[in-house]
Amino acid sequence: MIRTRFAPSPTGFLHIGGVRTALFSWAFAKKHHGQFVLRIEDTDLERSTPESVQAILDGMHWVGLGYDEGPFYQTQRFERYAEVLQQLVAGGHAYYDYTSKEELDALRAEAEARGEHFWYDRRWRPESGKTLPEIPADVAPVVRFKMPLEGSTGWDDLVKGRIDIANSELDDLIIARADGSPTYNFCVVVDDFDMGITQVIRGDDHVNNTPKQINILQAMGGALPQYAHLPMILNEAGAKMSKRRDAVSVVDYDRQGILPVALLNYLARLGWGHGDDEFFDMAQFVAWFDLKDVSPSASRFNQEKLLWLNA
Ligand code: GLU
Repeated sequence: MIRTRFAPSPTGFLHIGGVRTALFSWAFAKKHHGQFVLRIEDTDLERSTPESVQAILDGMHWVGLGYDEGPFYQTQRFERYAEVLQQLVAGGHAYYDYTSKEELDALRAEAEARGEHFWYDRRWRPESGKTLPEIPADVAPVVRFKMPLEGSTGWDDLVKGRIDIANSELDDLIIARADGSPTYNFCVVVDDFDMGITQVIRGDDHVNNTPKQINILQAMGGALPQYAHLPMILNEAGAKMSKRRDAVSVVDYDRQGILPVALLNYLARLGWGHGDDEFFDMAQFVAWFDLKDVSPSASRFNQEKLLWLNA
């Protein structure tokens, strides 16, 4: 069964980039008679707010993209993350790192002095024949994932084509902080695995996270989903959309009198083409939709076209 998800972080309103990601994920699931899951990625306790959670739920309701399961909340799944963490450590895929803040600062300063990118030197990574430092009494450890040291990690992206990233580019990722809280990339993997997600459709700002997630998922023994990374939506000037300058949230469109169906029609055409059809209903869109017709490069927002569709 095909299962897709929309997984926003509740750090602001539901913005149009998010709506388009949700729309394409939803359409893919519907087209294949699958299921569409909503997951609220609220692990970042400092940036997530209950107001944003509500804004996302209201926004999803306003655009009318119904989900078959959820909303799931990462903050309600901490026990499960702790369990997988233990399994990864027990299986030799992750390790405790007791490097102190002072030691890390020193490493960072050395790298900076050499003009190099800072890398954790993997001093606590267990390897056969290697003697690990003595465990200090006063340092609470983080847990790091053992990324492969050689070779590359790649996938056939349904939008961007083949992507391969050298494993030498991957740091041993911290998957749990010193206070035990799980980190973002790790939670995403556990969730996608548990929720049986078959296609991960998301913004291309996550391309660099994908090789990390693939390695973690493989260590968990999970089957890899397919990945589809959608290009950004730029403003009319061709720059990154900003909350200050551009209408970015569904609330803004609602205030402007834009109808949800017009916004969906507009977003459907942004980076996905099906000739010059004037207006289509969502059933028609689902029937036509295919990820292989999504353009791999960024598209520009065009207010006039949106207003024309709204008329
Ligand atoms: N929570 C992420 C975001 O809002 C999306 C992560 C994902 O889709 O994997 O950008």
